[in-house]
Amino acid sequence: MQDTFPDSLARIVGATHVLTGDDAAPYCRDWRKRYQGQALCVVKPGNTQEVAEVVKACAAAGVAIVPQGGNTGLVGGSVPNIDGRNIVLSLQRMHAVRAIDVANQTITAEAGCILQNVQQAASDAGWLFPLSMGSEGSCTLGGNLGANAGGTQVLRYGNSRELCLGVEVVTPQGEIWSSLQGLRKDNTGYDLRDLFVGSEGTLGIITAATMKLYPQPKVQLTAWAAVPSVQAAVDLLGLARQHLHAGLTGFEMMGQFALSLVDKHYPQLRVPLYRDTPYCVLLENADFEGEQHARERFETLLEAAMEQGCVTDAIVAENLTQARTLWHVRESISLAQAEEGLNIKHDISVPISAIPQFVQETDAALAEHVPSVRIVNFGHLGDGNLHYNVQAPEGVDPARFLAEQEPGINTIVFDAVHRFGGSISAEHGIGQLKRDTLPKYKSPVALGLMQAIKQALDPQGIMNPGRVL
Ligand SMILES: Cc1cc2nc3c(=O)[nH]c(=O)nc-3n(C[C@H](O)[C@H](O)[C@H](O)COP(=O)(O)OP(=O)(O)OC[C@H]3O[C@@H](n4cnc5c(N)ncnc54)[C@H](O)[C@@H]3O)c2cc1C
Repeated sequence: MQDTFPDSLARIVGATHVLTGDDAAPYCRDWRKRYQGQALCVVKPGNTQEVAEVVKACAAAGVAIVPQGGNTGLVGGSVPNIDGRNIVLSLQRMHAVRAIDVANQTITAEAGCILQNVQQAASDAGWLFPLSMGSEGSCTLGGNLGANAGGTQVLRYGNSRELCLGVEVVTPQGEIWSSLQGLRKDNTGYDLRDLFVGSEGTLGIITAATMKLYPQPKVQLTAWAAVPSVQAAVDLLGLARQHLHAGLTGFEMMGQFALSLVDKHYPQLRVPLYRDTPYCVLLENADFEGEQHARERFETLLEAAMEQGCVTDAIVAENLTQARTLWHVRESISLAQAEEGLNIKHDISVPISAIPQFVQETDAALAEHVPSVRIVNFGHLGDGNLHYNVQAPEGVDPARFLAEQEPGINTIVFDAVHRFGGSISAEHGIGQLKRDTLPKYKSPVALGLMQAIKQALDPQGIMNPGRVL
């Protein structure tokens, strides 16, 4: 019998690590269940050398590759096309923490390492790996870097890109390039690491990375504040930065409707203070001196904020369990809105100073376009990043709403983002979801440079085709 292409990959990684048919199905559907693809097979290499050999085999056969980590991406970047001619290359088996260099304050882990496990390994060594997000129990370091994920601590520590000192990559030709030395300074030409970070698997496969570690704060305090407007939330952010300095590690804003969805679908979570206020804010203060110091600083901040009128009510978590519950409420918004039904998602950023005007104008434009439309507005206000999602009016079928309204609503939101000098994708990437929208809002010069880079690195076009560009 003649060898099939999956058979040839099985000779590289072992037959049990090549999946087809029903076994491959879970890897072909995205987390939001918006994209359903089909793969020639799913292949799971066990080390970098095997990744390189798989890529060489694909390049020789002209078979395209979709790199996949935890498959939690929200823009359809990690699942194959429907034509069944691509393979999914899953990094799941490559999950080792290779090294922790305490003196260099770095951790080196393989791409398939679950984010929570990277955090845990750092913590076990007495250090903090600050990347954190709702999907941390499933997403992987490679996926975080592929998407340049942000999360809840960007305000203090930066995106995945800022946390990354080096990567090990398999190029589209199957060569291995490594910059895992953990250098904080290296001005020897173009920054190749930064080409791969955020490239959504279109330029190569990240197989490992060296990431920065930080000192663990003595205590982390969380507060929840009711604010009378978006402008008040922005004012509170300024005040919090002045009072807490680098201690301010999280600043999340949540609209009343977003919180009402959590209350409706997860009543056991007991959402605080949201009923009588249009917005709430979750603040996190990391303190290196101790609990009393942290509490005093928080109290001084909240008193000043109340005096200025930018906070109307607030609570400070009494203990870690309460703090976790508050974060759990924030992180449950994504799930609660999914329970409510499909909605139109916008992961956007505008300069922080422009957010109040952006929200006011865009809320009004959407209400005029679709009366009674419901806006699930929440996000990382400290980074100027909102998840400004649009839900069907009460009683309207979500699928019909999406089919009829998505293009018009996207135009209203993205045009407003563009007008305010913002980005149509703050942290989730472009993937398939925004590929055709990107050219309308990105400078033609920037797009030309991106295409030139893609052509130079992947002239055969086998890396995650049809994503980003
Ligand atoms: C509940 C929930 C909360 C979330 N919260 C946030 C948040 O706060 N901030 C945020 O930024 N994102 C968030 N996300 C989106 C998502 O979790 C992150 O983007 C995450 O980084 C994706 O990691 P992953 O391993 O699941 O990657 P995947 O979904 O598997 O892949 C994501 C992209 O990276 C590429 N890729 C994967 N692995 C590699 C690799 N080894 N080399 C090269 N390319 C690769 C894929 O091809 C794809 O284009 C959230 C998602 C969910 C479901």
